Amino acid sequence: MHAQLCYVDAYARTVQSPVSAVEPGVDDAGALVTLDATVFYPGGGGQPADRGWLRTPDGRSWTVHSARKSSGEIVHELEPGADAPTVGELVTAEIDWLRRHALMRTHTALHALCGVVWRDYGALVTGGNMEPGSGRMDFEFERMSGELVGEIESRVNHELGLGREVRVRSLPRAEAFAIPDLIRTKINLLPPGIEEIRTVEIVGLDLQADGGTHVANTSEVGGIRVTGYESKGRINKRIRIELGDAPAA
Ligand SMILES: [Zn+2]
Repeated sequence: MHAQLCYVDAYARTVQSPVSAVEPGVDDAGALVTLDATVFYPGGGGQPADRGWLRTPDGRSWTVHSARKSSGEIVHELEPGADAPTVGELVTAEIDWLRRHALMRTHTALHALCGVVWRDYGALVTGGNMEPGSGRMDFEFERMSGELVGEIESRVNHELGLGREVRVRSLPRAEAFAIPDLIRTKINLLPPGIEEIRTVEIVGLDLQADGGTHVANTSEVGGIRVTGYESKGRINKRIRIELGDAPAA
């Protein structure tokens, strides 16, 4: 398998790599390009795939519309029409960093929301999704009210403001299964073939099995606003959030 930097260093924006495979585009779809190493996130766990560019040293460039996992590899979907780079050619892969960083902040905010809702209300998360700067999560809540979501919002903002470290680790399956916090997030549903479990921990608040990209410290998120809540059935309640402006670096 080729190097997939998004899982080990969420802050890697570019990497230079030879092209390892090219599948020409059919109809109005662009070519599919695989690299020996990439910084692109292929999507998954509610986080959309990265967009960005491939460039060659002689000045040719391609827009990467999307990326996805295919047989374990991260595949880059190019804009349709242009002649794709060729196998063996050296390219620089660069992600749209503003978009990705907004997704990292959003993803981390959603984990903080999960952590607060579990710790203070004992409610499990059942699903979620995000766009850069906004997201939603569904929880097993019997009742939900404006007062309650207001309280949740201020508790999440308090936790984010504490500047909690966000730690990414990869654990052998047996070790991960011994952690009670991970069991509650249903890692037992992971296919048996997966030997290593990647965990994302907001130290002191939340621990989950997760494949996404996150910021390194909650202070990088800034604050959130709850923009809505709704019932998705008798048990499931949905909370929508938006990020405030990024904190000054
Ligand atoms: Zn996540």
